[in-house]
This record gives sequence, structure tokens and C-alpha cells, in this order.
Amino acid sequence: MNSGAEMCFHGTMHILLVEDERRLATAVKRVLEEEGHVVDHAADGGDAYAQAKSEDYDVIVLDVMLPTMNGYEIARRLRASGDATPILMLTARDSIQDRVEGLDAGADDYLVKPFALAELLARIRAIGRRQQMSPANGNVLTLADLELDLRSREATRDGRRIELTTKEFTLLEALMRHPGQVLTRSQLLELVWNYDVLTESNVVDTYIHYLRAKVDKDSELKLIRTIRGAGYAIRAN
Ligand code: CA
Repeated sequence: MNSGAEMCFHGTMHILLVEDERRLATAVKRVLEEEGHVVDHAADGGDAYAQAKSEDYDVIVLDVMLPTMNGYEIARRLRASGDATPILMLTARDSIQDRVEGLDAGADDYLVKPFALAELLARIRAIGRRQQMSPANGNVLTLADLELDLRSREATRDGRRIELTTKEFTLLEALMRHPGQVLTRSQLLELVWNYDVLTESNVVDTYIHYLRAKVDKDSELKLIRTIRGAGYAIRAN
């Protein structure tokens, strides 16, 4: 259980709720507002897309089946235009194909209908925590005393410069873009090596080993974690 971390998050978020089922939209809007969030609601896909483009949201809660433009299309268009606002997708069916399509379209997370409102709130809080940990300007990723400057391609730990190869930097960036999240070896292979057919399967483990030697070896706080049977994560607590 990680209730301590949840208790620490008090941020009010500006949320776009895109849902055409009136009763569900009303219920979701009410609980989000009770949590202290500011909620805009759209019931039409085209309207939602225009709204998402015109305002700065912290999270978009996005239904899939909508009039005029579906949720996948909205997510794809937003991502294609460089909009990185976190998207929590509401899918009607729990099929792998639906989930894959949502994630491929650019969704960060998904919930299968019908869902408990408490679970929706938990997902929103998780997105809020991830947002809090990521930098506002997007040029520097920070976790505890580790900093990654994406423009100068420089990494520092406690102000001390860390020399990284291109692949090491990209791997560290992939981990730091998903703080606290477990990334599987195949996800890391895709993100860092683009599934290069010549890549050996143990390359991720090898590079994690290199990264640990450079990033964690001299620090008391070890950031790069092995999640047994799952993959790797970077986290400070
Ligand atoms: Ca719908």
C-alpha cells in the first residue's frame, strides 16, 4: 500500500472530462469537483478536441465512443500536434485490442466501464503524482538529486556531472519519463532500441548495469530498481 504518497498530493487539477453519457458525466464531474478539481465537460468529440487545444489541462478523461470524433482519434490528433497532456481513457470493453488501440493512440492509462468512482479518483491521483514529479518546462527531468537536461544531454547527480553514452542517456531518459512506473524489458527495448532485430535480449540488463555503476554507485539513495519478474523502475522512495 502506498497511501502515504497519496496523502501528500493536494494539487488541484484542471480536468477535461469527455463523456457523452449524461448520467455518468454528471457523477464523474461531481466526484472530481468534490476532490477539489476544476472540471470542464464536453459531450461531443469534435468539441472536446477543440477544447483540449484551446486550454491547458492537467488531465483529459476521455471516453472512446463519442459523437463526431472518437476518443482514439482525439488522442492521436493531440499527440500528433505535440500535446502531451495525460489522457485517461474510458473503454467500454475489456479487450486487449481496445486497450492496445488506446495506448497506441497516446493514452497514458485506461479504465474499463463500468468502473468504481473510487478507482477513477485513484488513477487521477496517480497521474497527478507523476505530473508533480515531472518538470514544468519539459527540458529537465528531475528525480531526487538526479537531473537530466534533455537539451544539453547532460546528466548530474547531486550537482556532479555523469558521463553517459547516447544509449545510456536514452535509457535513463525513458525511466525518468515514467517515474515510479515499472517498465518491462520489452518496453525498454522498444523505447531505447526500437526493437532492433540485431539487439540481444540481455542488452537491457547490461545497460541497466552500466547505468547503476554511473548513477547509483556513489550515492546512498539507489534510484534504479529491479522489479523482480517485471522489469525496471526509477524511484526515490
Ligand atoms: Ca460514449
